[in-house]
Amino acid sequence: MCDKKDAGMDWAERAVPESVGGPVPSPPAGRTWEELMRMAIGLAAGAEARGEVPVGAVIAERSGTVVGEGGNAPLGTCDPTAHAEIMAIRDACRHLGNYRLEGCVMVVTMEPCAMCAGAIVHARLDGVVYGCRDALAGAVVSRSDLLDAPFLNHRVWHMGGVLSGECAALIRTFFAKRR
Ligand SMILES: [Zn+2]
Repeated sequence: MCDKKDAGMDWAERAVPESVGGPVPSPPAGRTWEELMRMAIGLAAGAEARGEVPVGAVIAERSGTVVGEGGNAPLGTCDPTAHAEIMAIRDACRHLGNYRLEGCVMVVTMEPCAMCAGAIVHARLDGVVYGCRDALAGAVVSRSDLLDAPFLNHRVWHMGGVLSGECAALIRTFFAKRR
């Protein structure tokens, strides 16, 4: 375990609930967005149990099969890139034996940061569904709109707000306990 501290940011304030707006894309076959978000929340709880900020992500194919799972793990792995989204992408790519995840969607408890948004584009995911917003570092709608950047050669649709209150509460409770 790294002896690494948060850089004094108030994480609890970062996690902002939002409601689902606009048309809701069809979920993978036989699934609901809420069901997939519950899996991601379970992975976030697993991260929390390891002392990590509780963020979790799953990746599902159109068929409904979940092909990747990830929990936030930078502290335990001494790897600053080990965000839940990156862990889920690595897991899905290993599982499918492919470096691209066309036809797959990611469901993650919090809005992805710039690094993860970049990785999501590189992975050629079809879309990303997130729970709460990250007011400080969210790169999908909050601080930047990277997934919609015109220079990117691959479009990833995105939707926020699924079980948003629960996802934000996970983060807020985690930091409240540590104060
Ligand atoms: Zn990230």
